[in-house]
Amino acid sequence: MAKNFDFLMPSVNFFGPGVIEKIGDRVNALNMKKPLIITDKFLEHAENGPVVQTLDSLNKANVNYTIYDGVEPNPKIHNIKAAKKLFQENDCDSIITIGGGSAHDTGKGAGIILTNGDDITKLAGIETLKNALPPLIAVNTTAGTGSELTRHCVITNQETHLKFVIVSWRNVPLVSFNDPMLQLNVPASLTAATGMDAFVQAIEPFVSTNHNAITDGLCLQAIKLIEGSLREAVANGHNVKARTDMVQAEMLAGMAFNNADLGYVHAMAHQLGGQYDAPHGVCCALLLPTVEKYNIVACPERFAELAKAMGENTTGLSTRDAAELSIKAMRQMSQDVGIPSSIKAIGAKPADFELMATNALKDGNAFSNPRKGTKDDIVK
Ligand code: NAD
Repeated sequence: MAKNFDFLMPSVNFFGPGVIEKIGDRVNALNMKKPLIITDKFLEHAENGPVVQTLDSLNKANVNYTIYDGVEPNPKIHNIKAAKKLFQENDCDSIITIGGGSAHDTGKGAGIILTNGDDITKLAGIETLKNALPPLIAVNTTAGTGSELTRHCVITNQETHLKFVIVSWRNVPLVSFNDPMLQLNVPASLTAATGMDAFVQAIEPFVSTNHNAITDGLCLQAIKLIEGSLREAVANGHNVKARTDMVQAEMLAGMAFNNADLGYVHAMAHQLGGQYDAPHGVCCALLLPTVEKYNIVACPERFAELAKAMGENTTGLSTRDAAELSIKAMRQMSQDVGIPSSIKAIGAKPADFELMATNALKDGNAFSNPRKGTKDDIVK
């Protein structure tokens, strides 16, 4: 029987080609007087890129704003502190993030320390936030993390090399924008990495101990869209249909894991990302087939369903054999979009495995994994 759950997502989600033109009017409708825009330098200066298009709409609507352009991939504590400082110095009252998961998490992190105290490491965990964040609009530019919809904020402590997560309903942005036209120039390698993150975020909640009928539907539809369109989005980034499918898939997967949680792939990927500053989607993709093969014994029938959603022909097969086909499909997808096959590719060193395994088992994502493992299992 399904456990009780809260279903969380932003109250308004703008989706579709061209929707970014509406952001100026929405900012005024929300009475946001001076948003801090949080982004990175590359996106800020990209010709007719996501920032230019957002500012165009804000300027037409006479919105006043300040820009923080210091977002780094795998955002660090110093990023959120710098954004907070700029917010206060410029009397801002709200936040607009423009980018992928790193921009949204920098915005959430800055919002958290603006209203919940400066020591964000103490707030790691579930529902630790006492106060509301400033209103946040997330303009999403990668089809991957779902952070524009989620209650998660992932920050890296640059001193300990640990990624930590603050999970709270207070982190859910007020409004999200998902305009596929903002993603036409995402390079192939980034499309592959972020698309694999969405793929993992559709698979892990499906086999999570917290899944329910609503999240199951979201996961299966996300997987079908990713199977149908990720390869094409990587090969031909200007294909609007493939980009649109991938944006819808990442939204579906984001809604799914926001409400059914993840598993060991994310618990372990956070260690690789924190330790080696490697792209999150690549870390997830590298771990996916091995971790899920390990998980099959816990729920073979769920993996058999995944195989069908991935387009595998399971007719006449035993549940176990059908389940194994899902692993084959995961490996094939990873290979087709050009993800390396070994964690050596991101500089992972066996000397770090013990510590990373210990920390992976403490990561909040570990608790909903369908099979309970030991540190030795994680090291292997
Ligand atoms: P990212 O935000 O780190 O961006 C990676 C690079 O892509 C950046 O250099 C950026 O400039 C570039 N980029 C972004 N949009 C682009 C565009 N439209 N065109 C060209 N280049 C573009 O990548 P990401 O994978 O979206 O985010 C990863 C981060 O999100 C990690 O820190 C991860 O831990 C976190 N994450 C958060 C959640 C959550 O729910 N909060 C979920 C999963 C992952």
